[in-house]
Amino acid sequence: MQTVTLNNGVVMPQLGFGVWQVPDDEAQPAVETALAAGYRSIDTAKLYHNEEGVGRAVRASGVPRSELFITTKLWNDEHDYDRALRAFDASLDRLGMDYVDLYLIHWPVPKQDKYRDAWKALEKVYAEGRAKAIGVSNFTVANLTRLMESSSVVPAVNQVELHPRLSQAELRAFHAERGIATEAWSPLGQGQLIGDTVVAKVADAHGRTPAQVILRWHLQLGVIAIPKSVTPSRIRENIEVFDFELSGEEMAVIDGLDARGRIGPDPDRMNWLG
Ligand code: NAD
Repeated sequence: MQTVTLNNGVVMPQLGFGVWQVPDDEAQPAVETALAAGYRSIDTAKLYHNEEGVGRAVRASGVPRSELFITTKLWNDEHDYDRALRAFDASLDRLGMDYVDLYLIHWPVPKQDKYRDAWKALEKVYAEGRAKAIGVSNFTVANLTRLMESSSVVPAVNQVELHPRLSQAELRAFHAERGIATEAWSPLGQGQLIGDTVVAKVADAHGRTPAQVILRWHLQLGVIAIPKSVTPSRIRENIEVFDFELSGEEMAVIDGLDARGRIGPDPDRMNWLG
């Protein structure tokens, strides 16, 4: 497994397993399959209502906690300092863990404009060692700049929508300047990129599947990717991406698919409190 060293020295697997839209009772078998296949990083969130299933899978797997990288996220209606601290405790309770490896603010929620209060709570759980790293998700350059003006801890990670149709070049460049790791959510474009003809041609040339080529593109771009599947064969397929390489030309061809093609919400307009 390739890793990325975050700005505080914490080591994070570059490929992880996402569990959005996986009901709690299905999360356990899916995560157990992922762990057996070799994944060591799991991405959940309070919003996903499956932190308990993730925790059960971890305990059932027998994989030592120290070998795992668990991420969860603070939901949008919990940006007050005290509420955020309580939300963090509740996530740990549901996971059945005494720390997480990464805790993220799920969305900036611009209308509410309280992510800086939430960040103070994240700084506290980080100082206590109960989150080994803290970061954000769906933050724009403007959100990140504003956050860093009023804080001493630079986010370790910004988890954003990123796939060949939305390659986020400007944001990635900003992250690189500031030492923030880029993590790609919906790395397969929620499955929409699987049928792309450009991807299919590259996949054929390598005797690989489209999903493997897209995930390989992410790895070579230097971003962290967290594909989701509940199908055991696909879960295994999506981690078999460390034994081939795309050429510079193939990377450029896939880069050419960028069309600012957002699938999920625009962070500047996402004010849903759930
Ligand atoms: P994804 O890009 O990982 O696509 C998942 C879908 O692609 C699957 O449901 C399946 O339909 C298809 N798929 C997966 N593997 C395949 C394969 N090998 N062959 C063919 N089809 C395949 O989409 P996602 O689930 O939206 O994103 C991944 C993870 O990112 C989520 O589970 C979650 O953990 C995270 N996420 C975070 C946010 C956020 O706001 N921070 C938002 C969305 C997702």
